[in-house]
Amino acid sequence: MKLMEHLYAYPWRGRGNNCNSYLVTGEKTVLIDPGHIHNEWGERCLDTLVRRLSEDGFSLEQVDLILCTHGHPDHVEAASVIKEKSGAQVALHREDEPIIAEIERYFGSAAGQAKAALKPNIYLQEGDLDLGEGAEQIRVIHTPGHSPGSVCFLLPRLKVLISGDTVFENSIGRSDLPGGDMATLGRSIDKLAALQDVELLLPGHMGFVSGAEDVRRNFERIKYFFF
Ligand SMILES: [Zn+2]
Ligand SMILES: [Zn+2]
Repeated sequence: MKLMEHLYAYPWRGRGNNCNSYLVTGEKTVLIDPGHIHNEWGERCLDTLVRRLSEDGFSLEQVDLILCTHGHPDHVEAASVIKEKSGAQVALHREDEPIIAEIERYFGSAAGQAKAALKPNIYLQEGDLDLGEGAEQIRVIHTPGHSPGSVCFLLPRLKVLISGDTVFENSIGRSDLPGGDMATLGRSIDKLAALQDVELLLPGHMGFVSGAEDVRRNFERIKYFFF
């Protein structure tokens, strides 16, 4: 689903759990959070993503880079399969690499596959990604709390924030999973709330928040209810 020039969204609409995926196009094709291969309901999450990408004229083979907001299997499990098909690079924050192993007992065997196969080639750090001339600008913001290596992606030109499991519409990510911490999450949310010029918030699950005023109010409500 095309949101704007250079930005497509694939919000998950199944019964079981999976993340929302996003595609940034331009000189480089960047897939953010490819999600599960299958989820706990046996839904074929990756097949669904492939079908929806193809409806918009894209294929996995075109993907140059897979950006992971964090290392949980509902966001990264399909990364290894796509990497194999496309030769894409996989980027994750270093602090979430051990989380992939630890999370196994929380998410069952699906996480085991992700653990075995996911090997990031790039470690994400706070700051602008260097994607080369003509590529859409993407800034990495380290936002630990849901997991130690959670990051958000800011697209400054498009005024879009892709927030993973740090911030949702009217809610926040869990802090009770391995490496999670509520106080740290609060500080990360403060960091995001201070960003100027975000007109569209695209979370890792559930709905979007659109309009600068609604994004600002969403942060205010979250701070009021959770911290
Ligand atoms: Zn998560
Ligand atoms: Zn998630």
